[in-house]
Amino acid sequence: MNDISVLGIFVADISFSGTKIPAVGETILGNKYNIGPGGKGCNQAIAIARLGGKVNFISKIGKDVYGELALDTLKKNNINSENVIQDEKLQTGVAGILVDQNSGKNAINVIVGAPNKLKISEIDKQLILIKNSKIFLTQLEVPKDVTLHCLKIAKENDCLTILNPAPASEITKEFYNYIDYFTPNETEAEFYTGIKITNEKEAKQAADKLLNLGIKKIIITLGEKGLFYSDGKEDIYIKASEVKAVDTTGAGDAFNGGLAFSLSKRKPIKECLELANKAAGISTTKLGAGDAMPFLKDI
Ligand code: ADP
Repeated sequence: MNDISVLGIFVADISFSGTKIPAVGETILGNKYNIGPGGKGCNQAIAIARLGGKVNFISKIGKDVYGELALDTLKKNNINSENVIQDEKLQTGVAGILVDQNSGKNAINVIVGAPNKLKISEIDKQLILIKNSKIFLTQLEVPKDVTLHCLKIAKENDCLTILNPAPASEITKEFYNYIDYFTPNETEAEFYTGIKITNEKEAKQAADKLLNLGIKKIIITLGEKGLFYSDGKEDIYIKASEVKAVDTTGAGDAFNGGLAFSLSKRKPIKECLELANKAAGISTTKLGAGDAMPFLKDI
């Protein structure tokens, strides 16, 4: 039985790099393209597996060329994919990414595809995996009724739950009863609290507001500034690693994967945060999302 279950999506990131992002109606000749794994759930599962964690990925994909890429990626990374539903009537998710190679800026169009059609009735067959895990980690990229259902099952079975509330979107109050760790970045924390975070004091105010909603532990990731943790009794602020960041896509995913992995090893919270912070820092030194997740030896 695996220690960690991740519910989320896989998308094939198809990126085109050129001297600019073409304007509407314009065609440019670019320099490079790359097709690699993406989707927060899949990236987080890769991060866990590369750190040495035993992880189940729960998702839905199509029976197409990108579905093959998904299965290949999961296999190569030793992620249990027996609970990835393949539906031949649906398309695997893709993200079209246009990158300006000079500034690193991008424009992205994500087609979620198959996991948008994930249903509670399908998930019910896979709940045994969640019930037998120590940690359940998810985001907000699959339908919310499925996310809530799984969080509830996880909590009822004494599983530690982590909700990475990304992309930011409304959740009902009921969610808060089933979340142990809530891990927004600065912009997401502002979305859920209305507090704009520019320093540690504001991070604490936002964390307090979230704790008052009933969530047990809050971790606000602060990009190149690091992170802030609070459980209402203990506050921890950790600076980001000093690295030469070339692509910060997936930094939050490396962080959440690192957190889930170290929590599954029952390490003290400060150690868990330090490992997650390091994993995320290293991920920014590599291009891509899933492919940029670090291995334990890198840390
Ligand atoms: P997201 O990727 O979800 O937007 P953040 O930007 O907050 O999340 O980054 C998540 C974590 O990644 C940070 O808490 C930090 O550990 C690490 N990180 C992000 N950017 C950098 C950076 N420029 N240098 C070092 N670490 C970084």
